[in-house]
Formats: sequence, C-alpha cells, structure tokens
Amino acid sequence: MMHESRLKSLLDDRESGAPATRIVRIMSERGALSAAQIARLTGLARSTVSMALAELRQSGIVVEVPGGEEAAKGVGRPATALTLNPEAGTCIGLHMSLDDIQLVVADVSHSVIAEQNIAMQRDYSPEEAAAATKAAVERTYRENGLSACGLLGVGVSVSAPVSPDGTVQRASIVPTWAGVNIRDAFEPVFGSPILADNESNCAAIAEMMWGAAIGCEDFVLFKIDLGVGGAIVSGGRVMTGIAGGAGEFGHLSLDPDGDLCRCGNRGCLELTASFNRPLEQLSRLYGRRMTMDDAIRLAEQGDVGARRLIEDTAAVAGRGLALVGTLINPPLIIIGGRMALAGDILLAPLVAAYEKHTLIKARDVAERLRTRITIGKFTENDKLLGAVGLVLRHHGRLD
Ligand SMILES: [Zn+2]
Repeated sequence: MMHESRLKSLLDDRESGAPATRIVRIMSERGALSAAQIARLTGLARSTVSMALAELRQSGIVVEVPGGEEAAKGVGRPATALTLNPEAGTCIGLHMSLDDIQLVVADVSHSVIAEQNIAMQRDYSPEEAAAATKAAVERTYRENGLSACGLLGVGVSVSAPVSPDGTVQRASIVPTWAGVNIRDAFEPVFGSPILADNESNCAAIAEMMWGAAIGCEDFVLFKIDLGVGGAIVSGGRVMTGIAGGAGEFGHLSLDPDGDLCRCGNRGCLELTASFNRPLEQLSRLYGRRMTMDDAIRLAEQGDVGARRLIEDTAAVAGRGLALVGTLINPPLIIIGGRMALAGDILLAPLVAAYEKHTLIKARDVAERLRTRITIGKFTENDKLLGAVGLVLRHHGRLD
C-alpha cells in the first residue's frame, strides 16, 4: 500500500528531475534494467544511480529480478537486473473491437497479470464501454488480489485516428464514436489517467517496447488486415500529426476515379491492399465465409488459389508501402495485422514489390543502409499490449 502511493507520486513528478524520479520513470518505460543501463539511459552518474537505487530498494519500490543476470548482460561480470516492484503499481490496456472489448492488466515490472474479453452489443456507446470495462476491471482486481489504488492509468486502443487530446476523429469499427473524447468518457468512471491512441500506433509501441523494434527509434509499422493502417515512429516517438491522422497509409488516395472508400475518398490503397476483397472472392469460391486465418491455412496447405490471392494482395500492398519508403526511407519496416501471420507467403512478394517501386533499392546501397522489412512479433495482440505501453511510456517519458 505504501509503496504504491510512493511510486505514483514519483512517476507523476515531472518537474523536480530528482534522480529517484528519473530512475523509476525510465524503469517504467523499459522494464528490467541493470544499474549501468540506468546510468546510460538517464545520463546520471553511476554513483548517483547507486545511491538512489539503494534507497529505492530499501523502500521496496525497486526489486531484483529473480535469476535476472541473464536479462541484463553487461560487459564483464553479469550485472544484477532490477525492476520496479510488481506490487507497486498496475496498469490497464483496453482495445475496442467491433463486438467485444479486450482487456489486459499488467504490473509495472511489465508482466501481464490477467487478460479478458468483454462481449458487447455492436455499436456499443463509449458510456457502455466505460461501465463494462470498469466492472470487469473490478472483478479482475478482486480475483487477483490487486489493490485498485495501485492503478497508474488506463490505455485505450481505438480503430480510428485519435487526436492528441483523446478525441476520436473518424470511427469505422465503432461508427458512433466519431467526435467522442475518450478521456472524458473514461476518466470519471476510472478516476485514473486515461491515454488513448489509434490501434496501429499502439501496435508500434508494443513492437518498440517488447517486439521486433526493440532498440530502434525510427521505424514504420504497416498493418495488413481487413483494413490497412500504420504508424510512423521517429526518435522513439509515435507521430500523431496535428489531428491524429499521421500514418494512415490505407487511405493514401491513389486513384481519383477509383471505388469509393469507407473514409469518403476514392481509390484508397486499403481497397486493393487489404484482405477484404480477396476474402470475398475466396468465400464465393468455397461457398462459405472465409476468414484471414482460413486463407492462410489453405495457402499453407498448398491451395493454389488462396496462395495466389495472398501473393497478389501482398504485391499491391508492397507497392503502396514503396510510397511510404520513398517518403520516409526508414531503417526498419514492421509488417503487422492479422495477415502478417502468413509469414513468408506474404512477406516475399511484398518485399519484391517494395524493392521494385521504392526509390532507394536494397541492391544499390550498402547493407547497413538497407531498409529491413520484417514481420512483427505481436501480430495477434499488439494493439492491446501497446495500450498498456501507452501508460508505462507516458510515465516513462522524460519530457
Ligand atoms: Zn480511404
């Protein structure tokens, strides 16, 4: 109980710049670290870090990771890995889907404590979402013996652009949410800080904190799913744009005479690079409703038609991604979304199309200057983990 409130006040202290504050904020963002890593990341002197850590360990806010020497390999003898005390604070991640809400509870040592799906009626309102999640959170905390006063914040992932103040700009998955301010809807119910962002931005945060982009401060996430989305990370920050629209690669309007898109423009990349239409074709062919998982399974089993649909769609997506490459020339591109589960079946034609259409081609430059394109680590639950990351990183930023 005591170290819960102490941790909260240390994390909330943005002004003092005291060593203890800076250390707990970087540990909240990064998870387990050695003293040497903390010194490097905070820029504090080793002796200052040692002194502050001794005090934080004594008061139970920082603890040793059991068997954690492996986790924090340094030069020379193995260093002790330290982490925030898992009992000192929790955070919640939420993802709003079409007819359910996914919930995850994690602690400040970056361990997931509980995960849950809350079934909802389609077109549920923000108020219904807040009430249902609050009830589920209370139940989960009770079942796991957690104290509600350790809650540091709630991260909310939404399938729509979200402006920096938390307002949903356009909402295709949850149409009635356009114009809703997530903070206003959730803060009175939870009484904790609420952080909201677009699902692809959340996915990028998850990959940056724990996945395929660890240690990479500049990269692009490109999501291929029933829609196409993305995120741009620059200098360790997810670019939101002034109204939250940055990285919406699916709505690059490529053909002014093309079909109407759900966003109101014509000829958007999403219409041809997402798996909506290929699945319709596959469903017609097989006479039953096919999902992305079905398409992947069929392709893996050698179904020529399913494989061809994935390859062709990947090639269109790769051509769209090549525009992003020409604009940004990032060192790393992570492919996310459900279709990323197709692995090389998707990646090979996508990379070939990217190489063909982008400006800087891998074959023309030294290996260290090449854009690496890889499948994400958390394609199935990246948005949800990233929602937790919103909270941990919000506290971890040294603004
Ligand atoms: Zn569009």
